[in-house]
Amino acid sequence: MSSLSVWLILLAPLATLAHPVKPGDYSKQEASGQFWHISDLHLDFSYHLTDDHTKVCLSSKGANASSPGIFGDFMCDSPYGLILSAIQYINASEQKVDFMIWTGDSPPHVPVKELSTKLVIDVIGNMTSTIRSLLPDMLVFPALGNHDYWPQDQLPVSGSEVYTAVAEFWKPWLCEEALSTFRKGGYYSQIFKSNGTSHPLRIISLNTNLYYSPNKVTFNMTDPADQFQWLEETLKLSRQNNEKAYVIAHVPIGYLPFTSFTAAMEYKFNEKLVKIFRTYNDVIAGQFYGHTHRDSFMVVLDEKDKPVGSAFVAPAVTPIKSSSEKESNNPGFRLYQYDTNSYSLKDLWHYYLNLTDANLRKEALWKLEYIMTTEYNIKDLQPESLKELVLRFRKPQSVEFQNYYKNYLVNFDSPDGCNTACKERQVCAIQYVDGSSYLDCLLDFLKYDGIQDSSNFL
Ligand SMILES: [Zn+2]
Repeated sequence: MSSLSVWLILLAPLATLAHPVKPGDYSKQEASGQFWHISDLHLDFSYHLTDDHTKVCLSSKGANASSPGIFGDFMCDSPYGLILSAIQYINASEQKVDFMIWTGDSPPHVPVKELSTKLVIDVIGNMTSTIRSLLPDMLVFPALGNHDYWPQDQLPVSGSEVYTAVAEFWKPWLCEEALSTFRKGGYYSQIFKSNGTSHPLRIISLNTNLYYSPNKVTFNMTDPADQFQWLEETLKLSRQNNEKAYVIAHVPIGYLPFTSFTAAMEYKFNEKLVKIFRTYNDVIAGQFYGHTHRDSFMVVLDEKDKPVGSAFVAPAVTPIKSSSEKESNNPGFRLYQYDTNSYSLKDLWHYYLNLTDANLRKEALWKLEYIMTTEYNIKDLQPESLKELVLRFRKPQSVEFQNYYKNYLVNFDSPDGCNTACKERQVCAIQYVDGSSYLDCLLDFLKYDGIQDSSNFL
């Protein structure tokens, strides 16, 4: 394989720009601020157009690319030009934003032998410098993903070559205190100061890859890298200092919406994290994740079913799917609006690229896909509004749920749509993030549907 640097020189910028759609004039509403969220860039530096469709990208793992074009293919991770077009769109939009969050996963989905510690570090470095060169004034709060390590998923608990190297890349954005916990355990917190606000905002970037089921290093541990202890101390201090916090991480809390009874994290770690988030729900004003490559949200309920938290999963920039999957996602990213006094979330604007269309045109026309409050007829993104929305989703033939599923796949044409069992899995994953209430939710549906349909869940 050619070295990464050679690939990156060969990959000239390909993107041309649409006219970005602008949200309302938030400068007139002084209490509003905005921030971007991008996730799962997954650069495949081997992507190139060739007549042999098994050789378009290493990330198709020998399978045929489906319809390869300059902006990518649904069987492949992102070509550099796709990632560049996304960042260029953000740059050209001239949105007034306070910061950007970036929830990890830069390297491609390729066999372990195709990567190395050095290549993983080079790819993260390249993605960092791509963002920095196109958005030089942007303050970025990043989080590590399960692919941001070699071998993938095995993120360690006490320092590593990757943590040290990535801390160097992220020095322009993070303070020394943040960098020091990052070098040790891949996590940090940092105050974002917004002028004239009553509360400071703390960004807490967790390394939830330590809790990810395939991580063999941490499987038998109770508190990998002492992150739980650190998180509780951090939130306690935040509460004392009258701060609000946004939690960002790669692997989300809760249950995977496309399957049954499977948490994204190891069960015991998910339970522990949900408990902490419930305890400090007065401090945490929002949670932001990636990893699943799909667009979804979750409402955090307390033990009495009161909504106390809003959690969002941004879909991927990469369009990749495996050969066994029918569905994928178009590339997407989003812009959140928040109240600069309380940091409560007001809205989100989701942008996407129709990949098939972009390849046909040879032009990346990124577009606004939907605005959350108008799409779902909710007044804001507060936990109460999200709970009310999921209750509406549960109704038969809910048009809002049909829209949700379309957005879940970022407008990818689903061959099968979402049948009853699919919808039940989705709804339970949105409404319940802890094990026992999620289980009750699915079992209730099973009872309702009748035992003859139980095979739907297996
Ligand atoms: Zn990913």
